[in-house]
Amino acid sequence: VIQLENVHKSFGALKVLDGVSFSVGKGEVFAIIGRSGSGKSTALRCIDRLEKIDQGRIRVCGHEVSDPKLDLRQLRRDVGIVFQSYNLFPHLTAAENIALAPRHSKGKTRAEAKELTERVLAQVGLSDKAGSYPEQLSGGQQQRVAIARSLAMEPQVMLFDEVTSALDPQLTGEVLKVMADLAAGGMTMVLVTHEMAFARNVANTTLFMHKGRIHEQGGREMFDRPQTAELQQFLGSGL
Ligand code: ATP
Ligand code: MG
Repeated sequence: VIQLENVHKSFGALKVLDGVSFSVGKGEVFAIIGRSGSGKSTALRCIDRLEKIDQGRIRVCGHEVSDPKLDLRQLRRDVGIVFQSYNLFPHLTAAENIALAPRHSKGKTRAEAKELTERVLAQVGLSDKAGSYPEQLSGGQQQRVAIARSLAMEPQVMLFDEVTSALDPQLTGEVLKVMADLAAGGMTMVLVTHEMAFARNVANTTLFMHKGRIHEQGGREMFDRPQTAELQQFLGSGL
């Protein structure tokens, strides 16, 4: 469902993606790891056309992402993205935050949106927090509401960019549990993460990015037997 072919991207003179290719099948979980500045977020953002690529090709759920005539709304309907900062509307309850987009951009009725909201809140384990405002929720709960908000758009693919980086270990665990459940439920996911245990145990494939390239990629065995000095050093440094 996701294919990147020889993707190049520069910001001015800075080459950030230098020929990145990978493809993610339906129901697969891909993790992207690597040092700060290696191009992880940029790769993710290109998939959702939050950044335009200079060269190469990206296809997502049948959309030709690099096509200038691409219907961005159609693409964003199929692709959900969650960031480190949750950006919930502070004056809306959890349920209202979640129902907003389905009501307005998918034309769901009030009753349909309500049912959808209840379903996704249950999926992230927050059925009892529907009426809570963001400031009444912990960071981990807010992040789970943000994930639920994305799920309410019924995406084909979910992208996660360091969604647990701002959370303490216990709250991180709650959010990772939700993501592991989603993966087990067959959701196609690409996630940028610093959680090596999660990448090792949950992802089908992990990409180690280094200087804008995929330096190494593999499953669990890649963590146990890294082939390159760069990955050995990266894993050894505890990052
Ligand atoms: P981190 O782990 O710190 O999040 P990353 O691997 O996600 O790092 P990117 O955010 O993809 O890294 O950034 C790669 C490089 O591109 C960095 O040097 C960054 O400063 C630069 N960069 C990213 N976005 C822009 C932008 N909009 N304009 C200019 N430079 C950018
Ligand atoms: Mg990043």
